[in-house]
Amino acid sequence: MVEILVIEDELRVAQAIKTGLTKEGYRVTLASTGEEGFFKANERSHNLILLDLGLPGRDGIEVLSLLRQKGLKTPVLVLTARDGLEDRILGLDTGADDYLIKPFAFPELLARMRALLRRGKAEPQLLLQIEDLKLDVMSRDVRRGNKKLDLTLREFELLEYLLKHQGQMVSREMLARDVWKETMRATPLDNVIDVHMVRLRKKVDQDFEVKLIHTVRGVGFTLRKEAESK
Ligand code: CA
Repeated sequence: MVEILVIEDELRVAQAIKTGLTKEGYRVTLASTGEEGFFKANERSHNLILLDLGLPGRDGIEVLSLLRQKGLKTPVLVLTARDGLEDRILGLDTGADDYLIKPFAFPELLARMRALLRRGKAEPQLLLQIEDLKLDVMSRDVRRGNKKLDLTLREFELLEYLLKHQGQMVSREMLARDVWKETMRATPLDNVIDVHMVRLRKKVDQDFEVKLIHTVRGVGFTLRKEAESK
């Protein structure tokens, strides 16, 4: 699960970011002061930190500087209302990886985040697993218990994506973008995705008591252990 820490004192902005990112499948933690942000950044590891520069008390630059001094390597995307060149340079000099000037368009935030998350991915996980389902990215071997699953390339990619996002909601939009890599199609891919998902589901779940792939009505799919939400 991709964990994002958002350090932002304006509640409305923070909530809007949280809502938007949650919809995209990220897990979001909010902090509304520099101190709280510093504490939460140290408390648990995150994949990315969104940091507002204008914070009450310890400001963003101070928080960033302290985190980098402590050796924190997490990518930091600075959000700043200040369009000053000096602030941007100061932010980057202090250890920010990128910055975005407020107000920003949400798709731009997502694009910058994806770029930073890709960069931050030092060691890709090669063996993905949930319960007794195992997928080996290198050898392309997929097994459920002792049974080898014979998947098409697309089914493999779908399952790999679900495993990387296990426990999260995966929307058809995310699948179209990240698995099919087609966002500009005139007609939605929904039916194509559903057909592949039906076949994949049969192979993964049909002969097993514990179902792993679940449909979330109106949203998409989720890979998890519970047999809830048909
Ligand atoms: Ca602020």
